[in-house]
Amino acid sequence: MSTPPSSDRISSSPPSPVALTLRRRERDERRRREEQYSHGRPLPSQKLCGNEECVLRCCNVFKTSRFYLPDYLLGDKERSVDDILVKDIQTHFAYLAATRIWPSIEKQSDVLLKAQSIEAFAASPPVRAAYLDFRYLCQKNDLNFSIESRLRETLSVTMPRFRSLIETLDTARLDDDYTELVVHRTLQPPHQADKAVQTDRPLPWTQEGCVMRFLLTSELWRCHDERYMRQRGWAWKPWIVAELLSAVLLHYWLLDREKCFERVPCRGSEQCDEVWQDWLDKYPLLGGDSSHDDEEDDEPDQGDSKKSPDLVPKPIGLIKGLDLDKDVGYVGGVGTAARGPLWRDMRQKHGDDGLPQH
Ligand SMILES: [Zn+2]
Ligand SMILES: [Zn+2]
Ligand SMILES: [Zn+2]
Repeated sequence: MSTPPSSDRISSSPPSPVALTLRRRERDERRRREEQYSHGRPLPSQKLCGNEECVLRCCNVFKTSRFYLPDYLLGDKERSVDDILVKDIQTHFAYLAATRIWPSIEKQSDVLLKAQSIEAFAASPPVRAAYLDFRYLCQKNDLNFSIESRLRETLSVTMPRFRSLIETLDTARLDDDYTELVVHRTLQPPHQADKAVQTDRPLPWTQEGCVMRFLLTSELWRCHDERYMRQRGWAWKPWIVAELLSAVLLHYWLLDREKCFERVPCRGSEQCDEVWQDWLDKYPLLGGDSSHDDEEDDEPDQGDSKKSPDLVPKPIGLIKGLDLDKDVGYVGGVGTAARGPLWRDMRQKHGDDGLPQH
């Protein structure tokens, strides 16, 4: 117990009301976190590389305590610089991604479910953090990503490399040491390959390195989310993963350019809890919630309600006055950087306009 810093406090005869309140608040916070874990927030102890002992910051992205507390959080503004609702842009992106990357789904309800899932993933706290990290790394290493074509070029160079990285990780799934090595090599600053000239000082990041780090961080979180929380039986072939994640990065970059984000200094882990709660409320788990047992909860469980009114995103045509692909070019965020947007491919393939009619 520390002594009170100033004399204007009454000497404590425990338990003071303040101490009681604090204790109660701590207990409530702990309970709330437990509840969040059971609904899709990753456990702070989970490491991206899979090694439970790993203390690297790049692997401990789910931790919010002390050393691992992020400096900033990435929040959405209400509207873009063009006065478009940011949440509509997110929905539009997710819908386009769902329909362009999996064009063969026919049932509209399946499309909407998929779009909802993509939106949840793209807007999730770990992806936001990965983007902030990406931007910071680029700035720190004087990498100029202010030109859209430059980012697209880098994405198109990186995508095949990323695809083979996913394949490598798939193959190495049972080899923990190798997985860890590969993950660390991608997430950590590059080092001199030649041992003779090796110094403690890492090499500067390259553009491709920054993109790879974003893609892999997001992918490891996506796999985690899929494995533990959201049973999405989609065809996650490596090229689909690479397409989607590249699209997400480009999408974030475009949102950034259109002034859709605000960077908020992080005050403490409670604020991170807040951010996770918002996300869990907005994107509740789809399907059965039988993965946990709420019987220990001695209070009614607010979080289990699955009747969120915003669960199903509005299809494109229903978002009034919104024509992003035409007016702002957001649709460019979907598709392979190398080949251009996917819808262009589809148009060639089917001989018709791949886009919804306006
Ligand atoms: Zn690690
Ligand atoms: Zn619950
Ligand atoms: Zn449109």
